[in-house]
Amino acid sequence: MGKRAYNFNAGPAALPLAVLERAQAEFVDFHGTGMSIMEMSHRGAVYEGVHNEASSRLLQLLGNPQGYKVLFLQGGASTQFAMIPMNLLTEGKVGAYVKTGSWANKAIKEAKLIGETVVAASSEEDKYMSIPDLSKLQLPENAAYLHLTSNETIEGTQFTQYPDTGSVPLIADMSSDILCRPFDLSQFGMVYAGAQKNLGPSGVTVVIAREELVNDSPKHIPSMLRYDTHANNNSLYNTPPSFSIYMVNEVLRWIEEQGGLQAVEKNNREKAALLYDAIDNSGGFFRGCASKESRSLMNVTFRLADEELEKQFIKLSEQEGFVGLKGHRSVGGLRASIYNAVPYDNIKALVDFMNHFQQQNG
Ligand code: PMP
Repeated sequence: MGKRAYNFNAGPAALPLAVLERAQAEFVDFHGTGMSIMEMSHRGAVYEGVHNEASSRLLQLLGNPQGYKVLFLQGGASTQFAMIPMNLLTEGKVGAYVKTGSWANKAIKEAKLIGETVVAASSEEDKYMSIPDLSKLQLPENAAYLHLTSNETIEGTQFTQYPDTGSVPLIADMSSDILCRPFDLSQFGMVYAGAQKNLGPSGVTVVIAREELVNDSPKHIPSMLRYDTHANNNSLYNTPPSFSIYMVNEVLRWIEEQGGLQAVEKNNREKAALLYDAIDNSGGFFRGCASKESRSLMNVTFRLADEELEKQFIKLSEQEGFVGLKGHRSVGGLRASIYNAVPYDNIKALVDFMNHFQQQNG
């Protein structure tokens, strides 16, 4: 095998090497069936075993709360931006949103096409460099739900605690930080994530929802866009993205082998501290974008003195085997995405590179 890249891609992103190797070993002949998992019927017992294992492993990692269902859907987290209001924003209700940045805005934009929305809190004034204080949040009485984006992948901010919304279901887009730490699922009506950061490859979107939110959708919605179609058919109404779901199951197994979510969080905190300390201790050569109390454990956004120097940083980093350090095209700057599967040693290598770059250019 050739040398693995120092992969800091934002998504699709690094997967655990152990998972890739296991998938490779099982690729051509899955468990003695004489075929790949990709080549078998999604209605057969072998595939269904994997499918059900993935959903029970996920609930197990979250402490097996009662009354929740896992759905495996397609169309990415972006389709959830529309499915949530289509299914839950019924006549006379309003969809409440926390406006924290690029992805929250995309969710709001879709909801506006479907029904009435309200921005319950926003960090727009702060150019989305922080998470707004939600401790005194006022929700409209007719709120169908409160939607937030637990981690803004582009800006590099992350919630550290979630608001108490009482009887209003709390919904979180956890696409870029799901399973980066333990969280109390019982606080949420629904959480969802495109798999391609912390859960596996692209192609599947995981929804975990309280049963009553997904068991009975308005009848005018087309079948594939109704939650109840998927909830009442174990996500097997149509052909699921079987290989992606198999990979999610393997990533979940890997998380268990790491010692579960507490162990994963400890690693993530160590990794993030290493990189943020390097930024903070650079005497202003590197500058973190997000305000300190809202910094993401997953997407570390930072800048150099000017765009020319940033270009040079990216060019040199690529020559040294670092991938994905360019910030999102909408905000510029630099970004290192350090999801669960990115090893500590890769961040150590990045910090060494940053120090060297500063010595040469500082
Ligand atoms: N929400 C967040 C927070 C994201 O980071 C992304 C993808 N980068 C999306 C939604 C969109 O996900 P998808 O590409 O799966 O539609």
